[in-house]
Amino acid sequence: MDYAPVKGCMVIRPYGYAIWENIQAELDPKFKATGHRNAYFPLFIPESFLRREAEHFEGFTPQAAWVTRGGGEELAEPLAVRPTSEAIIGSMYSKWIQSYRDLPVLINQWCNVVRWEKATRPFLRTSEFLWQEGHTCHRTEEEAEAETLTILEIYREFAEDFLAIPVIPGLKTESERFAGALRTYTIEALMSDGKALQAGTCHNLGQHFAKVFDITFLDSDGQLKHVWQSSWGVSTRLIGALVMVHGDDRGLVLPPRVAPVQVVIVPIPSEKEAESIAAAVASARAALAGPDGRGVRVEVDDRPEYTPGWKFNEWEMRGVPLRLEIGPRDVKAGQVVAVRRDTGEKLRLPAQTDALSSSVTDLLEEIQRTLFEKARAFREEHTSEASSVDEVQEVMETKRGFVRAPWCGSAECEAAVKERTGATIRCLPIAKDSSGRLSGEDAGSLVGEVDCVCCRQKARYLAYFARAY
Ligand SMILES: [Zn+2]
Repeated sequence: MDYAPVKGCMVIRPYGYAIWENIQAELDPKFKATGHRNAYFPLFIPESFLRREAEHFEGFTPQAAWVTRGGGEELAEPLAVRPTSEAIIGSMYSKWIQSYRDLPVLINQWCNVVRWEKATRPFLRTSEFLWQEGHTCHRTEEEAEAETLTILEIYREFAEDFLAIPVIPGLKTESERFAGALRTYTIEALMSDGKALQAGTCHNLGQHFAKVFDITFLDSDGQLKHVWQSSWGVSTRLIGALVMVHGDDRGLVLPPRVAPVQVVIVPIPSEKEAESIAAAVASARAALAGPDGRGVRVEVDDRPEYTPGWKFNEWEMRGVPLRLEIGPRDVKAGQVVAVRRDTGEKLRLPAQTDALSSSVTDLLEEIQRTLFEKARAFREEHTSEASSVDEVQEVMETKRGFVRAPWCGSAECEAAVKERTGATIRCLPIAKDSSGRLSGEDAGSLVGEVDCVCCRQKARYLAYFARAY
């Protein structure tokens, strides 16, 4: 990325944007497979639309950017640059939905949103960012809840299997939930500096927006009812998570599944063997990416103006999971040298095309697994238990990370812990029920009788606390 002329905005350069394209290419089919379709709604939202839902308006006004002039004239009504699209989409849904036969409505949009942030940080918090936002309408509360949790499970699986980032799925407390929602679910990840990052959220909106935007349907029993809604999103913040979870002192470390370049081939120049090296490089490239190859995203860096050592650093900084080196000795020995970005391990692979392509694809899978396991081990080492605020504070001032602690459920205790330790409740963890689906029923459920970490009254939940981005 690079910093843009407007403070808080960033330019996503091609290599970074390719990561976002890979994220989209993975998530979009998952949304479609669960019945969602893409659409596009306007960037501008009339102020009166945002005002209709009071809590929503309060929640987003401080961050909203407004357009007050257009075409050289003052506008009759200020237009908000969308901070999120519940209001504009809700107003359209009220026109489109009449009968129970029109439900469910399952729409997603890929777009940009603007939230005028005071403190910004590339990818993690920028004034404009890219995201997807799903907006759905359902006939019953149960359907809206099931939808919310279906998407949460898609996010969890995507974060863990594709980005190799372990996450804790859970319920947000009232003070942390989305403005206007009934319930907000989240996936929470731990960054390598011990701070938590909210990596994706799903909101069960209940009927709040349906009531203010008058989204009603005639049910099969002849009654006019309000729809039940959900909304959910993940953003370019996920790229920030990738950088912070897997990166090291030499730069990015990208999990193979999301890496724009999975394998880089660097020829080691030799005047005498130039032709045979070029042939070996072409053969290796074809074995991996060619028409008969395994579809590996491979790049050959044969730029004569840079030394191999310079290229090694460059591709390490860019986080390419696997580097292949082919020099005169390797050609003679019928081998390729492979270097893993995650461990630095150097391996000798057979140059023969079938053997090479299968060992490279195995290695990429191995790197993907290793990165996930490493991140999970880090999270486990950085998850502590606490039974008093002093203990929470001590963890926050030493190793940081997550703290699991009993909580009575009161906003006062939540605020008091935050005040003293800087840690907020990231979520009340949820698990899968007997049918294998995530269930919000027993969020943060406690075993046995314990006291609240703060007030010493009976605790109702086991909560995850952390300092967060
Ligand atoms: Zn308490």
